Amino acid sequence: MEYQQILNTINSELSGISNSGEVATYIPELATISPKKLGMHLYCINSGHYSFGNNEERFSIQSISKVFSLTMAMSILDDQLFRRVDVEPSGNPFNSLIQLEYENGIPRNPFINAGALVISDILISELKNPKKDFLDFVHNITENNSISVNQKVFISEKECSFRNAALINLMKSFGNIKNDIEEVLDFYIYQCAIEMSCKELATAFMVYANSGKKLSDTTQILSEQKTKRINAIMQTCGFYDEAGEFSFRVGLPGKSGVGGGIAAIHPGQYAVTVWSPPLNPKGNSELGMHALEKLTTLTGYSIF
Ligand code: GLN
Repeated sequence: MEYQQILNTINSELSGISNSGEVATYIPELATISPKKLGMHLYCINSGHYSFGNNEERFSIQSISKVFSLTMAMSILDDQLFRRVDVEPSGNPFNSLIQLEYENGIPRNPFINAGALVISDILISELKNPKKDFLDFVHNITENNSISVNQKVFISEKECSFRNAALINLMKSFGNIKNDIEEVLDFYIYQCAIEMSCKELATAFMVYANSGKKLSDTTQILSEQKTKRINAIMQTCGFYDEAGEFSFRVGLPGKSGVGGGIAAIHPGQYAVTVWSPPLNPKGNSELGMHALEKLTTLTGYSIF
């Protein structure tokens, strides 16, 4: 079957699934989004774009941004980076504090909140103008300068970031946060509040499908070896305590966010993104997981 036909099949099958997921409410602004939104976009290295639904409507990328911040940190620093954050699956919810206490403030991986906060701290130390540089990075990999932060989502999360504040404070007590606590929190929440569409995210994730290079002009954004490592972390840690389940059902490296987005890649083949706001109990898009499972089933191949 051709990709567009496969996407059409996925679209019609999703409409028959009763969605038991719930839109995130702990960031109040995210709760204002219609649970009915649904879009999917597949960007194939050899044959271009395929899509359905709300694939060009922007949504809050939230934790999908952690892939971009890790990319920036890895392009600046070598292996010393991994003295401050590990690369092991956590088996715990994305905002959990529990392992930090007995693992000396070293987060399990860069894709749980604790790990992403350490990466934010590192970028604040390394970059001249972290917010601008972060947005510039996203503009560069998407070749789209109109991508920006949703101020309402940014303010909404800032007003309710009690757990992230607790994570930063705990890590600061272990000496694993170097900068001002408020500054780290502010930058982390800023990157999470970036809005992108499925199409824009698929373009950004093409870098990871294409050995670290932009498809448009073959600029090397990250070395091939480091890209392989990021893909490995997406595979093992991209879905928190559901990373095993995602590998089991879908079989692609990917990353989710509480805005209901999922971005995944098939190295050497394509980048694919889905957006459906209702989340399952582990904080991953309920329909997004179904859609990607269908994709690798109908195409007949995953990375396994
Ligand atoms: N900004 C969100 C938070 O820190 C991101 C979480 C997510 O997308 N899983 O809670």
